Amino acid sequence: MVIIMLGAPGTGKGTVASILTKKLGIPQVSTGDIFRKHIKEGTKLGKLAEKYISKGNLVPDDITIGLVENRLEESDVQEGIILDGFPRTVKQAEELDNILEKKGKKVDLVVNLTTPEEEIIERIVSRRICSNQECKTVYNLILNPPKQEGICDKCGSELVQRKDDNVETVKSRLNSYFEQTSPLVEYYEKQGNLYSALVSKTIDKLGKDVAEDVAKYIKDNNI
Ligand code: AMP
Repeated sequence: MVIIMLGAPGTGKGTVASILTKKLGIPQVSTGDIFRKHIKEGTKLGKLAEKYISKGNLVPDDITIGLVENRLEESDVQEGIILDGFPRTVKQAEELDNILEKKGKKVDLVVNLTTPEEEIIERIVSRRICSNQECKTVYNLILNPPKQEGICDKCGSELVQRKDDNVETVKSRLNSYFEQTSPLVEYYEKQGNLYSALVSKTIDKLGKDVAEDVAKYIKDNNI
């Protein structure tokens, strides 16, 4: 099963994906996480990606597509994958379709999350993430704070803020989303595999609620 998480930054893609991963037993693969790992390790790819990420711009398609193509070869994702943050351009979506077709697979479901823009900014600047790469639990200082300040409830590791989670970079990340990624909504609408959901405190619906809805939708529709 191939599931894609689509949505602007801060809509809760990672949160929904991490819950679905446990419910469905298939791995979550976040291109953002892969880039951050390379940046931390100081690899050539990391140095290149950082130039784009630090400005809130997308990493070029050829680099990102190659990365995902290689990841799709690995044994742990042969039964299924939740792609979190890929594709982000029409070119990436087309290439993904080609890669999957060669494997006799297709995109089964696209979970498209939307959140009002002012909520997105508030959410991103108050986001904190567990620094333990095996855990990576996401907290929000307002909506979902840790029990002890700066410490992960689950594993006790230090919580950190992503470098690109600041007001200036968020604005350019939102621009990248509206210009380059939002056309994917229509792309997948045409394919007929789009599931859209509003994630917002105004309707009392957060990522964990949407994850429950998506899991039910998958079951009810035999996806
Ligand atoms: P994320 O963790 O998904 O918010 O991604 C963090 C950053 O990594 C983004 O702002 C982009 O700069 C880069 N990135 C992640 N996924 C992609 C992608 N599919 N295409 C291009 N750049 C990406």
